[in-house]
Amino acid sequence: MKYKTDINFRKQSLIKLLNSILKHEDEIIEALDKDFKKPAFESVLTETNYVISDLKETIKNLKSWSKPKKVWPSILNFPSSDYIYSEPYGNVLIISPWNYPFNLAMCPLIAAVAAGNKVTLKPSELTPNTSSIISKIVRETFDNNHVVAILGDVGMAQELLKQRWDYIFFTGSVPVGKIIAKAAAENLTPVTLELGGKSPCIVDETANIAVAAKRIVWGKILNAGQTCVAPDYILVHKKVKKEFVNHLKLEIENALGENPEESTDFARIINLKNWERQIQLIENQNIIYGGQSNRDTFYLSPTLIDEPSLDSLLMKEEIFGPILPIISYQTKQEVEKIVNSFEKPLSFYLFTENKAYADEILSKFSFGGGCINDTAVHLANSRLPFGGVGHSGIGAYHGKFSFDVFSHKKSIVKKGTWLDIPTRYAPYGSKLNKIRKILKWL
Ligand code: NAD
Repeated sequence: MKYKTDINFRKQSLIKLLNSILKHEDEIIEALDKDFKKPAFESVLTETNYVISDLKETIKNLKSWSKPKKVWPSILNFPSSDYIYSEPYGNVLIISPWNYPFNLAMCPLIAAVAAGNKVTLKPSELTPNTSSIISKIVRETFDNNHVVAILGDVGMAQELLKQRWDYIFFTGSVPVGKIIAKAAAENLTPVTLELGGKSPCIVDETANIAVAAKRIVWGKILNAGQTCVAPDYILVHKKVKKEFVNHLKLEIENALGENPEESTDFARIINLKNWERQIQLIENQNIIYGGQSNRDTFYLSPTLIDEPSLDSLLMKEEIFGPILPIISYQTKQEVEKIVNSFEKPLSFYLFTENKAYADEILSKFSFGGGCINDTAVHLANSRLPFGGVGHSGIGAYHGKFSFDVFSHKKSIVKKGTWLDIPTRYAPYGSKLNKIRKILKWL
């Protein structure tokens, strides 16, 4: 129980975790390569270094984050001192996905430990090499009645969900998110659900097309499009569509060469099932670039689809792969109609030089987070909470927000007994008029 009360113990545990990750960094990068040919550059940027920075920030701030926060008291309680205490929930379950398998298991784990919880982590079964390193690091760092990593498939996750938890933190798909929410409801267990959805990307007629294409291609080919915040589909103004598509093609070739299959900078689809789903999504579509694939290696090249029907499967589900549908529009109303035909997205991207349109978009649409004139980079700032809204998720984390997610905020009013103002006590008698005057004055 030391982890619950002793801040220094929590800090030492996180330092131990940091040392273990630093020791195994090369193995983690190798595991990610074995699991789905994740490029080393991306593994460092989005997995190991991301986690290491998160750990360092948490270690540095743990003392101040965990201190009771003094707040202004209410005059109605005069005299008092008022505080918010951060209390660990207790027994926490973390279930993580395969697409950023190290990052999305470790970052919630770091925060849960920092906040003083006991943790059970279930990493994804689809990245066995990375999950095995995670398990090794956890065993090396923590006592098993403090933190444990349980390797297993869906059946194991279902078994874990039958138990009672004090908090469940889930990252994954919308359908599984609903299963988690139902299981949690049985015991009124609080949850964070970090989910996905179709994130739109608008390119208007004022956009800097060359920069837009470069940043969209980057956000889409990262992890071979298997990123929850990847731009899912493009809405481009008719006037600039031709120029934009030409730039997209150019930028794909600049990044990955003429044959991306030969590039070491492009990951593979995670498994046969997901690869077959991608192939099904592009069937009978108007492929204007890419479309090359290899069933043996689960490869699919970055693929541009021109004007897909909004009724097609491609435009019904989150793509989660290197396919980019391009739909042209002429009026803002068309944009609105298409965006509003989906659930609230996890991310939203707008490329424009028109500040008024940017403001209009921000006030008109509800979504988790996003960028003006970039893609995915809002995740790089730990001062910004990251999470969805509606079907794209419940709750948000990163930086101090992560510590807060795993802490119950306990409100405490501390009073002395030397002064006891009698106004609030019955019998109320003639006090009603007096209290009305005081409340009006406050
Ligand atoms: P998934 O929902 O299939 O699986 C996630 C985890 O849930 C895995 O550990 C898996 O074992 C477990 N699981 C699967 N079925 C289950 C069930 N029936 N009951 C209990 N647990 C079950 O998701 P995935 O394929 O690993 O990841 C892709 C999805 O995750 C995409 O939709 C993506 O947008 C989303 N995602 C969201 C974020 C975010 O931060 N918002 C980050 C990454 C991925």
